[in-house]
Amino acid sequence: MLPDVRSQTRESLLTLFQGWNEPTYRLDQLLGWLYARRAASWEEMSNLPKGLRQRLAETFRLALPEPLRVQGAQDTTRKFLWKLGDGSLIESVLIPANPALYGERSDRHTLCISTQVGCAYGCRFCASGLDGWKRNLEPHEILGQVLAVERWQSAQPRDPAAGPAPERWVGNIVVMGMGEPMANYPHLMAALRTLNAPWGGNIGARKITISTSGVVPGIRSLADDPLQFRLAISLHGATDAVRGQIMPVNRKYPLAELTAACEHYVAQKGKMITLEYILIDGINAGLDQVAPLARLAQRLHAKVNLIPYNRVEGLPWNRPSESDCRAFAQALESQRVTATLRLEKGHDIDAACGQLRLRTERELASDPATPTLAA
Ligand code: SAH
Ligand code: SF4
Repeated sequence: MLPDVRSQTRESLLTLFQGWNEPTYRLDQLLGWLYARRAASWEEMSNLPKGLRQRLAETFRLALPEPLRVQGAQDTTRKFLWKLGDGSLIESVLIPANPALYGERSDRHTLCISTQVGCAYGCRFCASGLDGWKRNLEPHEILGQVLAVERWQSAQPRDPAAGPAPERWVGNIVVMGMGEPMANYPHLMAALRTLNAPWGGNIGARKITISTSGVVPGIRSLADDPLQFRLAISLHGATDAVRGQIMPVNRKYPLAELTAACEHYVAQKGKMITLEYILIDGINAGLDQVAPLARLAQRLHAKVNLIPYNRVEGLPWNRPSESDCRAFAQALESQRVTATLRLEKGHDIDAACGQLRLRTERELASDPATPTLAA
């Protein structure tokens, strides 16, 4: 099968164009079609000579993820279920920077993207790993989620009162969708370099956050990479006893090793990291967990993001009551740790990537005609 053109670097395309005796401005035109105009076919590239388009089509595939389901409304969190070339399903979630809680509108969005089909890490609470791991995403499938969302958004009818559509919908990227990014490190970095490059997505490295369940070699590689991508750790347990119970990865990389890798990242980058901590009733949300969590956060100069657990069908876990969540956050803050707690309602599709895919896969298994593109 042909490689996809969006998995190529600018340098490799340049070498190819030079071999074809094509001037460099033709390459710039191609890159403009690929990344600024988010082309989905060679035919769209009207200012490229037909012969060149044909040559490109014989050399590369050109595919964007296809929207299969879109949930959520304008100005709220919107969830995309994509179908890839081989029929695999993955998810992305588009989150407005400023949800329209008070009638404000926001054109600056954060996109949460996936890096694998399924996940091999098997965290006990997570929908992404329930049906196991299927494959790694290619670089063009990782960055294609950003382009496909922007293409989809630009095609939506727009209220004239909202002014002209923004050139870019996606201002921030969080790699927090399905899959463990550090287990697909080379493709992840290839995709992020293109999203960051001035000739590509032109999104600042500081606006891109990678979340990991604690894969230590990946954290160390990221620390030593010259680009300033941000790091978030899915901690969810502040002691090996608690973390080991819900995250099998903790057996391979226990907290001491994970903490040392995080310290290395902080030393190299001079950047704050974020510790993600889902609050799960009866598992990690007891006030006895506050002291070890505070110690870890202080040692790493990290802020803590507390997220009440989102129920997953078929799993026994629940979120604690709102007052228990608040009590945990307050206890943490009283230990001088910067903590945020997201309790807003109506954000149920926000976290827990992997659930829409899982549901759709299961519906497909029982009735192949079910999924439709529903806004
Ligand atoms: N594999 C990486 C990237 C995925 S991030 C990682 O684990 O960091 C997805 C985030 O959502 C992780 O912090 C994960 O722990 C969290 N998550 C998974 N299932 C959840 C659920 N049901 N409710 C709330 N958060 C969940
Ligand atoms: Fe995989 Fe992350 Fe889910 Fe764990 S939390 S199963 S690492 S996607």
